[in-house]
Amino acid sequence: MEDLTWPRPATLARIGLVALVALWILGPSMLRSALPIWLVFFVAVGLEVQFLVGALRAGPRQAPDRRPQQVDLDRYGFEPREDELDGDDLDDNLLDELEVAAEPHPFLPPVRRFVLGLGLIAALVLAIWLVDSRTGWDSLDGPTRGKAAERFSAEASRIAGKEVSIYCDESRDYVGAVQHADGVAIVGGDRAYLTPERCFDLYRLAFEDEVTWSRTARALAVLAHEAWHLRGVGDEGTAECYALQSGVEVGRRLGLSQRTAERMMRQQLAENALRGVGTAEYVVSPECRDGGGLDLDVSRTSFP
Ligand SMILES: [Zn+2]
Repeated sequence: MEDLTWPRPATLARIGLVALVALWILGPSMLRSALPIWLVFFVAVGLEVQFLVGALRAGPRQAPDRRPQQVDLDRYGFEPREDELDGDDLDDNLLDELEVAAEPHPFLPPVRRFVLGLGLIAALVLAIWLVDSRTGWDSLDGPTRGKAAERFSAEASRIAGKEVSIYCDESRDYVGAVQHADGVAIVGGDRAYLTPERCFDLYRLAFEDEVTWSRTARALAVLAHEAWHLRGVGDEGTAECYALQSGVEVGRRLGLSQRTAERMMRQQLAENALRGVGTAEYVVSPECRDGGGLDLDVSRTSFP
């Protein structure tokens, strides 16, 4: 019965994949930044391979062998047993045909189903690529991206206290989907990489005056966070706490009002505890408060 049940998980997996991709494209941007879609495709291909292997291992559908077993032949010679007297080859064949016709997917052998599954995945990858190339960072022309990266680098340099460069990692060699990080920097180094999504949110703020509350806030925090790494802060929680304070200034310089920038960073601080559930080292310490050990400006009474 194995071969009767295997298409169901495969079909469910495909429906789930389509729904997930649709949600990823159309749904809240938070999902986009939180869910590594290429990892989802990686898993989907793995599942297809597993379904194929499972189906091939189960073998083609075998009609039960109704002829006498060797052990019976040895014992009884070539005389058929009593319960087989009423069955002959013609009936068996007819029965097999009826059973095959009653299968839910009799015309889709495993390999064909596998190719269909891969085709579906390829179509979804293409859809995401098309959406990506027409929106977001990739839709900007080269000079515009260059100008934006220069601006981000200037802001990061102010925080780092030295000349540093911010790169928007379009090829996703360093940050993005698989690494599941919004940015990366070598502690004390002179260059940092941000995901195109974060770069685009910063670009929209700095060049288009467009704000999407939590995304803009996160992008500012990420830029400042990597800048503090470049300055030499290695501890993630400390870098994040400093970043939320510097983020106010960066946000203001990129076009936000002081009040909006402060509210954004305060919200980021509030969300930090929630976000940190899976990544404990990013959680800021209790010293990350007004007058606390990590307060960069004790004379200011608002925090961050
Ligand atoms: Zn970090």
